[in-house]
Amino acid sequence: MTVHFDFDNSYARLPERFYVRQPPAPVRAPGLIRVNRDLARHLRIDADALESPDGLAVLAGNAVPNGADPLAQAYAGHQFGGWVPQLGDGRALLLGEVVDVDGVRRDIQLKGSGPTPFSRRGDGRAWLGPVLREYVVSEAMHVLGIPTTRALAAVTTGEAVIREMNLPGAVLTRVARSHIRVGTFQFFAARQDTDALRALTDHVLARHYPQADGALGLLNAVIDAQAELVAQWLGVGFIHGVMNTDNMSVAGETIDYGPCAFMDAYHPEKVFSSIDRFGRYAYARQPDIAVWNLAQFATCLLPLIDDDRDAAVETATQAVHRFPDVFAAAWLRVFRAKLGLAGEEDGDAELIQALLDRMAATGADFTNTFAALTDGTARDAFPDPAAFDGWAEAWQARRARGADDAAMRRANPRIIPRNHRIEQAIEAAVGGDLAPFHRLTEALTDPTRDDAELAQPPSADEEVRQTFCG
Ligand code: AMP
Ligand code: MG
Ligand code: MG
Repeated sequence: MTVHFDFDNSYARLPERFYVRQPPAPVRAPGLIRVNRDLARHLRIDADALESPDGLAVLAGNAVPNGADPLAQAYAGHQFGGWVPQLGDGRALLLGEVVDVDGVRRDIQLKGSGPTPFSRRGDGRAWLGPVLREYVVSEAMHVLGIPTTRALAAVTTGEAVIREMNLPGAVLTRVARSHIRVGTFQFFAARQDTDALRALTDHVLARHYPQADGALGLLNAVIDAQAELVAQWLGVGFIHGVMNTDNMSVAGETIDYGPCAFMDAYHPEKVFSSIDRFGRYAYARQPDIAVWNLAQFATCLLPLIDDDRDAAVETATQAVHRFPDVFAAAWLRVFRAKLGLAGEEDGDAELIQALLDRMAATGADFTNTFAALTDGTARDAFPDPAAFDGWAEAWQARRARGADDAAMRRANPRIIPRNHRIEQAIEAAVGGDLAPFHRLTEALTDPTRDDAELAQPPSADEEVRQTFCG
């Protein structure tokens, strides 16, 4: 059985300085963890062939399929606010692009496929833990209706990866609308390569924003997409953890699942990432960080916005300053739905904020509080029910003037990929038992499922307080 991809590689047709052609490095003993059969079909790829030995060889990087043009993409970025002029795919390769059943072009990328010229001191590899985490969380995000890269497959390599200790190696096959980042634009802007910026802008416009006009149109489209994305993250209690400009997709998808987390107990200052010591990427700071990143993006586009630098700065600044209003509208829409509010009233933002404040003050579980609101049992979800009573009266009064229970049910998942469940699945997988990973992945395909075990917040000794980049 041979796996076939209908590759059409538009990124590889961009100028040579956009990437470095590089074959994947073969691994000793590939083993299949999971193929995302639904996604394979969506991409017009035969799921059986992908699971066959031939498919496994492709997913492990031991064979390059016909029509693939493996390359490492060049990019730069600000990491925690510090400028790094060259990052690039240090452990990932774009195999090529396919057009899915909806006519959407999708990148197929191997992550953990060996060193590239961008690897710096890294080994080009990934270990099993982060591969399983990205598989579970990115697929859960997709099911929640939040724009995201997806996981087509995960395989083991039969090789050890050294991360303080020896850990099993793995490769994730990632699917994205594109892997073009704010950092991709920064790479060329920093080199004052306006021709490359123009080619990249045209490519992104054609691919992601065909209705938008020129560099300013692109800037506005990316601002809108990011405002919408971050509002949706906040609506499910998601903390990306490493919102560096190289991890911000211009297509508006959630990308780079490293030290990310869904929080259990709500607090706006929550941080999980072990390397985010100052809380730069805390839950409630994510909209501000998006603005910071978009300002970098806008700066890259200045030479394409107006030949007159001052005029370009003025125009781009105005565009970036739209973000707070666009974000506020998206956030209100998301949280009105979560509270089951129909229509729009002046006091809605305050009503929502008052609930969040009470949740923070009492350490209420984010997901379960909103699920319980939907069920009419929210009082029990509060460690201090009196804190809820004062608020509930105003909420019921508001809902008496306009309620939307169907929207509320859609907006409030019962199960999300809780950290401790992911950690338990990873621990079991490292010990050779993939059953918890498969169970978690399957359960999360239906976030409305009544699953008492997965809905349960962690006990004190199960709680994960830190997450790592991997
Ligand atoms: P990230 O923190 O995942 O956004 O990655 C930042 C940069 O480090 C990117 O250029 C990655 O390709 C690179 N990188 C991360 N891990 C590795 C690794 N194990 N080997 C080589 N490069 C890596
Ligand atoms: Mg990254
Ligand atoms: Mg990463």
